[in-house]
Amino acid sequence: MSDTLLEVRGLQKFFPITRGFFQTVVGHVRAVDGVDFILKEGETLGLVGESGCGKTTASRCILRAIDPTGGQILYRTRDGRTVDLATLPPAELLPLRAEIQMIFQDPFGSLNPRMSEPLLVNGMKNRRERADRVAELLRLVGLRPEFMHRFPHAFSGGQRQRIGIARALATNPRLVVADEPVSALDVSIQAQVLNLLLELQQRLKLTFLFVAHDLSVVRHISDRIAVMYVGQLVELAPTSEIFRQPQHPYTAALMRAVPVADPRVRTADGILSGEVPSPAAPPSGCYFHPRCRHATARCRAEAPALREVAPGHFSRCHFAGEMTF
Ligand code: SF4
Repeated sequence: MSDTLLEVRGLQKFFPITRGFFQTVVGHVRAVDGVDFILKEGETLGLVGESGCGKTTASRCILRAIDPTGGQILYRTRDGRTVDLATLPPAELLPLRAEIQMIFQDPFGSLNPRMSEPLLVNGMKNRRERADRVAELLRLVGLRPEFMHRFPHAFSGGQRQRIGIARALATNPRLVVADEPVSALDVSIQAQVLNLLLELQQRLKLTFLFVAHDLSVVRHISDRIAVMYVGQLVELAPTSEIFRQPQHPYTAALMRAVPVADPRVRTADGILSGEVPSPAAPPSGCYFHPRCRHATARCRAEAPALREVAPGHFSRCHFAGEMTF
């Protein structure tokens, strides 16, 4: 795996659909259906898509907050072993919890500026030692150490997210999964928190999986971007490449849907319309065909495979590399 920290292979998560008194399984919601990507040490991969595309389910599988249905999640541990997080028994998973942490959208529910729980998990039993570490962590995220004595409701949204970040860093993680970490914040505060994450990444050599629905947010922080649609990856490429020349009509439509100041621009040709199909009953052929303005009879009949159309640039579209979207 060399500089690869995480390699996700064929990840699947299906939820059963049950019916009747005996809860008979009549089908499955294929929330994540064969996702592959790697995450190199020190990089940020942005995982993006509309609500319900499976990005949060995929990230929860990686954290083993839920058990995947299939596939492998190969992780290189701090001591150099490669383990499959998808099947690792709970007792072996526990010591790795410190290495892989999560930043939530709104940390208010679990907010405790004294951060006692992660520090206790990390073996810090001495109260004085813990207070010193909390002061250090608060400084690291640009807050004053005395904030540890404040009540959660006394913090602004931006301060709460800074505490959420400090909490995630309390165990000296290597991999941080951030799930919509700035989407609950005002735009001006978003930029500050994103800049903080970038600064911390360089300082602490962190690797980020950054999950978001907003392509403009992901662009700001990611080295590469993976776009998900109905449980599958439809495009994966370096950020500059994907913005220079998207190779999937869905990515191109998401880009055009990025909010802009002039409302007339939003009504321009090509804005994403229609509903996201249910992963319980996806359309035939290419899942995107009911919303795609380039769809042909082939698209309705034949499912495209994810293929490399330029070095490091993957697309799941029959016409990638032949058309400009
Ligand atoms: Fe559109 Fe066809 Fe490409 Fe699917 S395969 S994204 S329907 S052009």
